Amino acid sequence: MHIENTVKLDFKDVLIRPKRSTLTSRSEVDITREFKFLHSPIRYHGIPIIAANMDSTGTFEMSEALGRYQLSTALHKHYDEAQYVEHFTQLKNKSQTFYSLGIGDHDWEKFQRVMAAAPGAIEYVCIDVANGYTETFVAFVRKVRETYPELVIMAGNVVTGDMTEELLLSGADIVKVGIGPGSVCTTRKMTGVGYPQLSAIIECADAAHGLGGRICADGGCTVPGDIAKAFGGGADFVMLGGMLAGYAEAGGDLVEVDGKAYKRFYGMSSKDAMDKYAGGVAKYRAAEGKTVLIPFKGPVDQAAQDITGGVRSACTYVGARRLKELTMRTTFVRVSMQLNEVFGKSL
Ligand code: 5GP
Repeated sequence: MHIENTVKLDFKDVLIRPKRSTLTSRSEVDITREFKFLHSPIRYHGIPIIAANMDSTGTFEMSEALGRYQLSTALHKHYDEAQYVEHFTQLKNKSQTFYSLGIGDHDWEKFQRVMAAAPGAIEYVCIDVANGYTETFVAFVRKVRETYPELVIMAGNVVTGDMTEELLLSGADIVKVGIGPGSVCTTRKMTGVGYPQLSAIIECADAAHGLGGRICADGGCTVPGDIAKAFGGGADFVMLGGMLAGYAEAGGDLVEVDGKAYKRFYGMSSKDAMDKYAGGVAKYRAAEGKTVLIPFKGPVDQAAQDITGGVRSACTYVGARRLKELTMRTTFVRVSMQLNEVFGKSL
């Protein structure tokens, strides 16, 4: 047994310190990014915020709506092949949509058939498992890279620098970072496993950037300020579930409770998800996700505006003319325990 004594931080533990700035208006700030990748020759251009590949947020409707704001969507993996082929062949901006897959034979065979039916239409894929630390997962990432050398491959999830490097060296271009921070995730409660998300971002970004790789901070953002903190900590991309789940383009059922409208939102490892897609929770495992009701908020345009506006404003406060400069200009100040509690509640 070993105890790691250095302080590890979550979004709620810090604030970004303002800095002198020559910017006169937030409209001067450019929050798009251009990326080259470690393996793929494809160039990315857009606002690097991605709707999560959960069946509520990773919908075709979300991809179309967020695409209007240069934001991306990682589609969930439960559409049928013909639907993917139709969606991807119609896409104008290919960086707008990730095809997502797990590492089962069924996922792999389905993906190969879609790739064959829509040649050149898919450029971005997201290989997603709850635990990115297994040899099977690394081998799968290597197989996808060898089979499709051109693809931009995002793979995860992990939370440490060593595994970030291993995935990058095995073929990933973007490593997805986050174990346990998700709004409908119960992994920390069920297993005791996890890592404070801001520290995971800082450490994985450092490891990835040293190799020319990218990271995507996945989970735990509850307000636009958390997204700014993730970028400030070094994230190249940020993935969002709960922040987008209450909108019309999300897939969750619309329900009414006491005259108020809500969207149902569940974790992809929750009992609800496993009942729907796997015929129930298998005997050897326990659910690691929960179901919540989120107040219905109408079209996702409002969220897109709040999120991009919040990040742009954060850049203005620290004098970053471009999102690219935000990390360099970020100094985090630790929030004292008492303030932290008050601040947490006031949000
Ligand atoms: P959020 O933005 O809602 O805080 O986090 C979204 C992320 O939570 C997803 O992208 C995914 O990585 C993670 N997630 C989604 N469903 C589950 C689940 O059932 N269990 C766990 N452990 N994580 C989940």
